[in-house]
Amino acid sequence: MNSIQFQNTLEFAKRLDEKDVLRSFRDQFYIPIINGKQSIYFTGNSLGLQPKTTQDYVYNELEDWANYGVEAHFHGRNPWLSYHEIFPDKLSKLIGCLPEEVVVMNQLTINLHLLLTTFYRPAKERFKIICEAKAFPSDQYALESQVKLHGLNPDDVIIEVSPRNGEHSIRQEDILTTIEHHGKQTAVVIFGGVNYYSGQVFDMATIAKKTHEVGALCGFDLAHAIGNIELQLHDWNVDFACWCSYKYLNSGPGGVAGIFIHQQHVANTELPRLAGWWGYDKDTRFNMDKGFKPIPTAEGWQLSNAPVLSMAAHNASLDIFEEAGMKNLLVKSKALSNYLLYILQEINKDLKQKIIEIITPLNEKERGCQVSILMLKNGKKVFEALKKNGVLADWREPNVIRVAPVPLYNTFEDIYRFGEIIKTAMAAEQLIR
Ligand SMILES: *Cc1c(COP(=O)(O)O)cnc(C)c1O
Repeated sequence: MNSIQFQNTLEFAKRLDEKDVLRSFRDQFYIPIINGKQSIYFTGNSLGLQPKTTQDYVYNELEDWANYGVEAHFHGRNPWLSYHEIFPDKLSKLIGCLPEEVVVMNQLTINLHLLLTTFYRPAKERFKIICEAKAFPSDQYALESQVKLHGLNPDDVIIEVSPRNGEHSIRQEDILTTIEHHGKQTAVVIFGGVNYYSGQVFDMATIAKKTHEVGALCGFDLAHAIGNIELQLHDWNVDFACWCSYKYLNSGPGGVAGIFIHQQHVANTELPRLAGWWGYDKDTRFNMDKGFKPIPTAEGWQLSNAPVLSMAAHNASLDIFEEAGMKNLLVKSKALSNYLLYILQEINKDLKQKIIEIITPLNEKERGCQVSILMLKNGKKVFEALKKNGVLADWREPNVIRVAPVPLYNTFEDIYRFGEIIKTAMAAEQLIR
């Protein structure tokens, strides 16, 4: 699909939709209505849409609760005691891992803390954390507070890699030389898989390799990566990772999250961790003995019993991913974002001066479906007009509009219409000839 010559017409967009092998999936989601019409929903990177099956999945658990009470832990249709065990198989296809390396639990920021508790063990000589500048705020606060918890000063410890002056993405070479430069002092390198602001995808395999060369550990926050780009965490030798499920994974607001811990670490029961009964050896958990004995898989990091209602919503969505197949989704995702970039470039041709700047890397390997648009003039007004005209996009101060056409439910027609709406909005602001 990528090599074809795009056209900026409704007819052409509709033709692409007709050829789309995933087109039936849109009907499996509720599309929010604005002004009596289906909106152009480009905020799947913030809150993915609700699958129509979610209500049934959740209702089943409510029904089992009603019918069996506590006995549903053992006799429910999906017994709650082992409910989380349905996920590793499904998630391993999305993140490229072995089933023992993944567990669904808690929420993202708490999981980041749990992982840092295990993997950030600063020593006298090796104490630094290398991360991306402008990481998601919650991640910044997590890192800062972890450092303080160890009695250290974040200013001495946290090394941020920034884009160069006048650039918007971080150069891979700068990441690698920073890791090399801090070498023996580096304890952990932690990046987003995809930067939430610019949409830049980092080369996780190379970052992990370089990190290991200097003797440090490497982790990723995959909030904007899972369900969006190809991941091979096991083969890339990533040490640990975490994500949320409510963005591209469509599992509902505040939905249950997950972690990955590489095979080489999971069975190491000596690793320090914050422990809870759900991480305890399954055969003897209910002896309720003293002394924590962890499960020798990622499950050994669980604290609490499963939030089943939230997991049911997660399951509904992951079954749709199973049906669609991540490979197909990636192909369509590339085609959608390429079409979006093409449309934006067409609009740029009609401008008196440069107004739209794409800050997401144009190189296909360095982006997922998100395109971040830096508006050099009247950005907020254009954004407001988008909303009034049925486009749900996302505004980030000072001047960035983020749009994420997701392959499960967005169409090429959405992109064409978005182009027309943003053009009209810019014309109203006298930005277009
Ligand atoms: C969305 C997002 C979060 C949100 O954290 P929660 O704990 O789920 O509220 C954190 N980090 C990143 C990188 C995100 O994209």
